[in-house]
This record gives sequence, structure tokens and C-alpha cells, in this order.
Amino acid sequence: MPRVPHGHLIRDIGTDVPVIGAGISGAMVAGALSVDHQVVIIDRRGPVKGSTPASTALVEYEIDTPLINLADKIGEERAVRAWQRSNLAVGALAARTRALDIRCDLEQRDSLYLAGDFLDPDGLRRESEARRAAGIETLFLSRQALMERFGIRRSAALLAYDDFTMNPRRFTGGYLRAACRRGARIFAPVESVSAEAGRSTVMVKTAMGPVITARAVIYCTGYELPDFIPARGHRVASTYALATRRQPRRLWPERCLIWEASEPYLYIRDTPDGRVLCGGEDEDFSDAKSRDALMPLKMKALSAKLAKLLPGIDARPEFTWAGAFGTSDTGLPSIGPIPGMKNCWAVLGFGGNGITCSRIAADVISAAFAGRSDPDADLYGFPHHPAK
Ligand SMILES: Cc1cc2nc3c(=O)[nH]c(=O)nc-3n(C[C@H](O)[C@H](O)[C@H](O)COP(=O)(O)OP(=O)(O)OC[C@H]3O[C@@H](n4cnc5c(N)ncnc54)[C@H](O)[C@@H]3O)c2cc1C
Repeated sequence: MPRVPHGHLIRDIGTDVPVIGAGISGAMVAGALSVDHQVVIIDRRGPVKGSTPASTALVEYEIDTPLINLADKIGEERAVRAWQRSNLAVGALAARTRALDIRCDLEQRDSLYLAGDFLDPDGLRRESEARRAAGIETLFLSRQALMERFGIRRSAALLAYDDFTMNPRRFTGGYLRAACRRGARIFAPVESVSAEAGRSTVMVKTAMGPVITARAVIYCTGYELPDFIPARGHRVASTYALATRRQPRRLWPERCLIWEASEPYLYIRDTPDGRVLCGGEDEDFSDAKSRDALMPLKMKALSAKLAKLLPGIDARPEFTWAGAFGTSDTGLPSIGPIPGMKNCWAVLGFGGNGITCSRIAADVISAAFAGRSDPDADLYGFPHHPAK
């Protein structure tokens, strides 16, 4: 990946907006804000060194919570808007990435959502009807249609259109460099330790001493949440992933993305050099030591499930990794002003389609900073309850 320019922060500075975190969310938000504002990005590690490079990067509009279930949780009108917005965000992401000419192996893919213990064929049929009524084209595949077209043995599936895959490191690096071309500056390693919100300014204190004075601050710290950000309804879990050897001739028809209506679910994609990436086997804890202790067992389980689903491929892992992964009760992210802290915003892109949420965050926040209200901002705002 071409270098992302960044420097040391050695003295106090002033700017319009510091963005805390140089992962995919920080990159998107900083990219959008740098059009009209002076932006500084800081990261305690460095650009693209958090959870983003671990991502398997299936960029999907499908929210973890099916539309019919989300309607039960938040009401039909809001659920439909959330799904439609997610659908728009994936299209906008692909278009913007092309417009910026970011070389990140972006490849359009359709997605197969297989029946599982969460939605059976009847449930999938109802989900398909709900999505179509919301204007989101979806195809229901019976057991036979699924077998004939994709060679996959499951009771049913939904086919969704126009998702994509990419290389998350190059993708995020590209967005960070685009922000820098518009004047954004990146400082790393720099850790934010506190924020003092005044009437019209915010002072962000950093671990090594320098203070950043700004009009507003945006926390895009991924799964590492400062105590003052409300996290109720969100959990940080662990997920596991593997990459097989290169096997371009053994991949499945249409090389669509694959995931399941199960809890937890398996997620699968191919790579440009013909490997299969497969993730899942999530656990409810985020402690790195406990997570790593389970690696051999989890890899065995992932490999076995992959081999069962796609018997034509060699499912043995050549690379393995694990990482923190956020989920939320609704499958929706939280994006908005932090309750009780004037001019302080946060992005919690929790959910299986966290990357899509990063784009929505950039839209919602840049609209607010331009004095407009995003029509869907109400879906993502932090509830007014105290911080954890
Ligand atoms: C194995 C795995 C597979 C995944 N697969 C998918 C997928 O297929 N599709 C999908 O959409 N999503 C997927 N995700 C989720 C997706 O990767 C995340 O939603 C996304 O990368 C989060 O980006 P972020 O910028 O919010 O967080 P991060 O990339 O973690 O960036 C946050 C940054 O903030 C910095 N930071 C934290 N605290 C501070 C501080 N106090 N001061 C300064 N800097 C700080 C960190 O160093 C870090 O660089 C996956 C995640 C994992 C781990």
C-alpha cells in the first residue's frame, strides 16, 4: 500500500475538527469533512492499524437484523428506511471509490443469504417480500434453484445484488490520502486521553502532552470506546477468519458473497488471487488472550464448515487471524452527538456491515456540519441514557 503521510504532534495546535482514529470510519468521516473544514486525524497506533486491516471486507448493504425482524424492533417505517439507506450507502461507496480512483481491488459481487436457524425458508420468503416492497431487488431461491445455480445444498437462500469486495487496507489508505490532498493532516502515534467540551470549543488532550483545540471532535475509535461514549446496546465480541491457498479454478459459480441466516453466521468471499476467505465462529468476549487460545479449535471448525458448504474447494487454512468485532441489539450503528458533551460526536459502526456504516457516518456527520439535517440521522442517534 502506498504510504499514508503522517507526522509527529509536538506542540499544541488548533483546527476545525480533529477526528480520533485512522481506520475506515475516520478515513470516511475525515474525507467528507475535509471538503469544507480544516481536519486533523490522530491515531494512537498509526493509519489503518486497528480492526480495519483484519476485516474480510464483504461490503454489503444487508443489515445483520433481517428487515422483518428489524421492523418488530424499531417499527416498520424506520426499519425500511434503515435498509434503504444501507442499500444506498453501498452504491455510493463503490461510486465514490471509483471517482477517487482508489486502487483497492474493488469487485462487484452479489450476495447469497442462506437459510439457517434464524430464518427458515418461510422466513426467507417473507424477508424477500418485505425487501422487494421496500424497493430492494431480491431473489428467493428454493432448495432446487440454489443447487442448480450455485451447487449449494441448503433449504433456501436469498440473492441480493450489487454488493462488493475490496482490500480494506488499500481502500482506507486511499481515502486517507484523498483527505490529505484536501488539506487534512494526520498525526500518529498520538493518543487522545480526554476531551473538555466548552461552550464553543473542545480541547482534546493527548497522552504525550500536546492539546488540540477545535470547534468539534469526532471519535472514530472503532471497538475501543472511551468511557464517556454511551455503549448500551453494543457489545464487543471476537471473530475468527481464515484464508485458503490460491485455487482460482475451484471456486463456486458467480463467486457471490455467502453468509447465513444463523447466529453466529459463517461469511465467505473469494479474493482476486483465487483464495477463499471465510470468517465466523464468533464468541461473546473480546479478551485477546482468551480469543487466541481458541484459535486451533476455531480454525478446525471454520475449515470443516467451509468444506461442508463448498465441497469442491480445498478448505484448509493457509493464513488465520482473529479480531475484535462489534455487534448491536438492532444491527444498526450509533452515529451522532455524544449526549451531555457539546460539540463531541462519535461513530460506533457496530454490526456485520461495519464498513457500510462508516459511509453512513460520513454522510450524517458531514450533513450536520454543513448545517443540514440528514433525513435518516434519527435512526442512528445515541439514545439519551448515561454513559457506561
Ligand atoms: C475479522 C473481521 C472481519 C470483518 N469482516 C467485515 C466484513 O466482511 N464486512 C464489514 O463491513 N465489516 C467487517 N468487519 C468489521 C469492520 O472491519 C469494522 O467495522 C471496521 O473496520 C471498523 O473501522 P473503524 O475505523 O470504526 O475502527 P478501527 O479500524 O479499529 O479504527 C479505530 C482506530 O482508532 C484508534 N484509536 C482508538 N482509541 C484511540 C485513542 N484514544 N486515541 C487515538 N486513536 C485511537 C485505533 O488505533 C484504530 O486505528 C470485520 C472485522 C473483523 C475484525
